[in-house]
Amino acid sequence: MLETVKEPLFAAYNVCDVEKVKNSLSNDKLYTVVQCAPAVRVALAEDFGLDLGSLTDKKLAAVLRRMGFDRVYDTNFSADLTIMEEGSELIKRVSENSNLPMFTSCCPAWVKFMEQEYPELLNHLSSCKSPQQMAGAIFKTYGADIDNVDAKDIFSVSVMPCTCKKFECDRDEMNSSGYKDVDVVITTRELGYLIKDMGIDFKYIEEETFDNPLGDYTGAGTLFGTTGGVMEAAIRTGYELITKESIPNIDINSVRGQNGVTKSSIDVGDIKLNVAVVSGLENVRPILEDIKNNKSDLHFIEVMTCPEGCISGGGQPKVILDKYKKMAYDNRKESLYTHDGECGVRKSHENNSIKKLYDEFLGEPLGEKSHHLLHTEYASRKEKC
Ligand code: SF4
Repeated sequence: MLETVKEPLFAAYNVCDVEKVKNSLSNDKLYTVVQCAPAVRVALAEDFGLDLGSLTDKKLAAVLRRMGFDRVYDTNFSADLTIMEEGSELIKRVSENSNLPMFTSCCPAWVKFMEQEYPELLNHLSSCKSPQQMAGAIFKTYGADIDNVDAKDIFSVSVMPCTCKKFECDRDEMNSSGYKDVDVVITTRELGYLIKDMGIDFKYIEEETFDNPLGDYTGAGTLFGTTGGVMEAAIRTGYELITKESIPNIDINSVRGQNGVTKSSIDVGDIKLNVAVVSGLENVRPILEDIKNNKSDLHFIEVMTCPEGCISGGGQPKVILDKYKKMAYDNRKESLYTHDGECGVRKSHENNSIKKLYDEFLGEPLGEKSHHLLHTEYASRKEKC
């Protein structure tokens, strides 16, 4: 049996954000929409005494609906969307041999680190917003249209494994829909608190699924929750977009990262793509110094701030006893890979709801509308430090 870790109630939660969510749910004038990051569904159950790393995607959907959200959507959907945009951006940069290597931009702590520490290399960051922010912008535009609601009445809540996502949603530029794209972020632990506060029985709730179309996702989308996942999802799609052939092995074990740096070379048609997966910011500095000194032969680099990626994010249930930490991270990671394997569709570009989104609304990856809603710009924060 695991020892239960008790936390002081109010030290562990941002009461203000939790109250904002409660107030929105009791306000009849608001149309409440929620999204959940992939890593949430493999950790939340730990707050309810279930095994470390239990996969509870369907309980999560059911519990959010029971809380009263009008739409229960999924960040995994916008992770697939991110791959469409980021993969297309990588292909463009490689074909033009410009601003290489390209870095992923879905981790806001990493983006802020670049703005503070290496602003001269900001052109190497992908211009893609994170999946959270892409989802927020889509909910208040396309989502408002399909649900026939006024975007000004939508209150958009995000459940994240990450405390830094709170900072990200408050960035001045994150209002491409004409409104604040994500109104409030709560962490996995804060959601656990809210579920208990509302008296919902998480353990025994009958399972349900996320709402479509903006909760429809592939196995690739779910991999964003662990280190190497963005890279693997991008390669699955990039390979097929470039070669027009089916990828020979969909499980790309060489990019499944651990803590630290994992480098590999992937054959994509005639191109040998040199890639690296990095977790932990101390591990990325040597790579950044190589780029500054023109010594890097890499094309694409994924960076996540937390050890092994979002599964160990600062907003996840705490595993304080060292002897259980590795087990928790291993189990959470394994659950994400299991979930990917069980998804009928495992490549982002084969997500039918993503195809529909481009057909009906966005047009094409990197097109004008996508650029406005799904991409962003970065600026030096050196002087702000
Ligand atoms: Fe947040 Fe950590 Fe994930 Fe980065 S790696 S998005 S800081 S949880």
